[in-house]
Amino acid sequence: MNRADELSANLAQVHQRIGAACISAGRPRDDVSLIVVTKTYPASDVIALASLGVTDVGENRHPEAGDKHDEAAGDLTWHFVGGLQTNKASAVARYADFVHSVDRTKLVGALDKGARAAGRTVGCFVQVALSDESGRSGVTPDAVLDIAGAIASATSLSLAGVMAVAPLGGDPDAAFAELREISTSLIAHHEEATKISAGMSGDLESAVKFGATHLRVGRSVLGERPPTR
Ligand SMILES: *Cc1c(COP(=O)(O)O)cnc(C)c1O
Repeated sequence: MNRADELSANLAQVHQRIGAACISAGRPRDDVSLIVVTKTYPASDVIALASLGVTDVGENRHPEAGDKHDEAAGDLTWHFVGGLQTNKASAVARYADFVHSVDRTKLVGALDKGARAAGRTVGCFVQVALSDESGRSGVTPDAVLDIAGAIASATSLSLAGVMAVAPLGGDPDAAFAELREISTSLIAHHEEATKISAGMSGDLESAVKFGATHLRVGRSVLGERPPTR
C-alpha cells in the first residue's frame, strides 16, 4: 500500500471510531473536531492528509512545527500541543493558530507579545494536570482561573478552553470526567471558553463520552512513532 492509501485507510478508521463514540454519547458528530498530530512525520504526510480532507494538524516541538508549517503551506489550522519554553513562544505565535499547552502566566505574556508582533490572534487552552499525576505538565485545577484570566485579558490571545492528557495507566473516564467539571466551572467565568482538548489514539472514546470537542490523534492515523530518546 502506498502512503496516501495507508493514511486514507487509517483516517477512515479513526472517523469510524469517532462517529461510533458520538452515537454512544448521544452527541452530534459536528461537536467533535479531529486534530491529526503529525509530530515526527514529514511535511509530505501533512500535505497528503490535507488532500484527504484533514483540516487541523498538531505538532509538539519548535522548530520542527514551524518548518513543517512553512513547507506544507495551504489552508490548515495548526495546533501546538507540546510543552513550550517561554523563549520560543514568540516564534510559535507566528504560525500556531492554537496553543494547547498554556500552563503559566509568563508564557501567556510571551505568546501575547509574539501574536501581537505578528498581527495575529492565537487561541489558547489552559493545560490541566489531572489528579494523582506527578510529572505531567499542566496547572493544578485550582490555578486554571488565574491563567484563564490572564489569557482572556491579553490583547492578541483568545481563551479557547481546557486541555489535558489522561494519566498514564489511570482510568481515562475518571480523568476526563474531572476535566469536564473543570471546564464547566471555567465556562461559568468565561462563557467563550467552551472547548475541551482531550483524547488521543488510545482513549478517544472516553474523551468523547466526557465532552471533548478536540481530539488529538497521532499514532492511529500515522502509525507508531519510533521511540524518542
Ligand atoms: C503525541 C501527542 C498526542 C497524540 O498521541 P497518540 O497517542 O499518537 O494519538 C496527543 N497529545 C499530545 C499532547 C501529544 O504530544
